[in-house]
Amino acid sequence: MDFTGKVALITGASSGIGAATAETLAKYGANVAIVGRNAGNLKETEKKCKAANANIVCLPIIADVTTDAEKIVNEVIGKFQRLDVLVNNAGILAMGGLMDIDIEQFDNVLNTNVRAVFTLSKLSVPYLINTQGNIVNVSSVAGLRSFPGALSYGVSKAALDQFTKCLSLDLAKENVRVNSVNPGVVITEIHKRGGGMSEQEYANYLERSKGTHAMGRVGNVFEVAETIAFLASSKASFITGALVPVDGGKHAMCPR
Ligand code: NDP
Repeated sequence: MDFTGKVALITGASSGIGAATAETLAKYGANVAIVGRNAGNLKETEKKCKAANANIVCLPIIADVTTDAEKIVNEVIGKFQRLDVLVNNAGILAMGGLMDIDIEQFDNVLNTNVRAVFTLSKLSVPYLINTQGNIVNVSSVAGLRSFPGALSYGVSKAALDQFTKCLSLDLAKENVRVNSVNPGVVITEIHKRGGGMSEQEYANYLERSKGTHAMGRVGNVFEVAETIAFLASSKASFITGALVPVDGGKHAMCPR
């Protein structure tokens, strides 16, 4: 895959899947604009991108995707005068069923996982039309299948999947592709952050999760990042509106 001369904007690049995606796209030659709120973590990602490819330019943008969409896109265009790939990766997990949670949790999850994607995509599309670029959204197996005890998250990812499909149809005539990856359990910070798990509970969760993935293991961030890079690349030139599970078969499986 060759992204030389192209510009990719990756949200949530200060951790986990987003950080790996920035590093991977940099490895393939893309200039990367990386977004997150944690300046220290974003700096670490910047270092990894430069180490992956000394010839690329990395633009860190400390910003909140729920409030700073305009600033984010303006900084990217100000620096590079173009945008080829938007990876809407920033996301949060929150646990609980309807009777356990309040409307604030629901709003917070929907604002981050769906509303911010709407805003960033809307601001980016004119530039993506200019470059014949594309969007990759980072959804979840929780958009494709339903799980108990994470209502806000499941609703947000199912909405994101419908957003991916509807937008892909609207932009097909412009030759701007829109796809998503739908990961299974991948080792990052998200479960400890949003799932309220201790280290031990997280270790137990990962062990249990092996049995809910057909391949008998959980995933790692680069397995998702490489799929994102593929979908964003010219190798996927006839793929749009696709929700691609990167989940060791979890979406296809009914655990016993
Ligand atoms: P992490 O918690 O490791 O990373 C989440 C990233 O999102 C961080 O960089 C964080 O930035 C950023 N982020 C969250 N909220 C905001 C915000 N308001 N503004 C800017 N940045 C924000 O999680 P993952 O890497 O696991 O998650 C990435 C995506 O992958 C999410 O959309 C998640 O739903 C999805 N996913 C993850 C799975 C997994 O098992 N890990 C499974 C399925 C899907 P900062 O810390 O700087 O605020």
